[in-house]
Amino acid sequence: MKFPSPSSADAVIAITGLRRRFGAKIALDNVSLYVPRGCVFGLVGENGAGKTTLIKHLLGLLKAEAGSVRVFGLNPVAEPVGVLSRTGYLSEYRDLPGWMRVDQLLRYTQAFYPKWDETYAEELREQFGLDPAAQVKTLSQGQQAKAGLLLALAFRPELLLLDEPSTGLDPIVRRDILEAVIRTVAEEGRTVFFSSHLLDEIERVSDQLAMIHQGKVVLCGQLDDVKSTHRRLVLRFNEPQSAPPKILRALSLTGSGREWTALCNGAREELIADVVTLGACVVSEQTPTLDEIFVARAGQKHSV
Ligand code: ATP
Repeated sequence: MKFPSPSSADAVIAITGLRRRFGAKIALDNVSLYVPRGCVFGLVGENGAGKTTLIKHLLGLLKAEAGSVRVFGLNPVAEPVGVLSRTGYLSEYRDLPGWMRVDQLLRYTQAFYPKWDETYAEELREQFGLDPAAQVKTLSQGQQAKAGLLLALAFRPELLLLDEPSTGLDPIVRRDILEAVIRTVAEEGRTVFFSSHLLDEIERVSDQLAMIHQGKVVLCGQLDDVKSTHRRLVLRFNEPQSAPPKILRALSLTGSGREWTALCNGAREELIADVVTLGACVVSEQTPTLDEIFVARAGQKHSV
């Protein structure tokens, strides 16, 4: 499968042939990804697919066993300050000191970042409805997610890395705050890389996406291209088929007898020519959802 690979000069993130094992478990298998500046890039995969492991490599917390990882052209393991001083990170676990008050947490974090924007931090605190006097441990899971997001944003990093940012956020907050924040950051020319198991979220926010399954990238590209190059075709064959018909470019196939439904990848004319050659006609065709594409690519039901 050919994946887009802009030159490394354009890429804020460039990962090539990355592999990582934990004992016998292969967590990342020959992963290559390129994320251009100003892009919102969504990484989607089921639990245990390898998303957090990949993000840890971007932060320099794990060293590439094979392959290479570059962020702003730098190796994050060798040059952590060069990378982390320009990267805002929201961990899946939030990792906030529970004993601090919100105002103390802001002052404390500000000290690490010369470029901290106090006015912006205050705007975000108000927008997120965070009480400065509240102790972090008394905040709900959603409020802790917002506090973590505020800390990641307030020094206006060039790269925002968000690991499952939706966890704990209700759908309205997700749509009104998270998606707005992500889009604003990208509109300012900064880059957002976020992981999620929510395909609808990836679909609403991302410019580009990668689907990862059992440590392998099974699909990567511009969201619009991914959607326009996949089709669900309902087919009727002239004769009943005793075995699943061999349709070139079909990623998945269900049905029996004369009626079959194929989820295919390729140019429309080629797909139709394929099925006509097999003695079938197209009864209807639709654009599949990202969820259906993921299931067809990963070969199993996507867990949401
Ligand atoms: P989730 O959405 O559940 O957080 P994920 O896509 O982020 O999943 P990872 O946390 O990257 O997945 O894990 C990928 C695989 O590697 C899993 O099978 C996990 O159990 C394994 N793994 C991750 N970290 C370690 C570790 N430190 N030691 C052993 N195995 C690990």
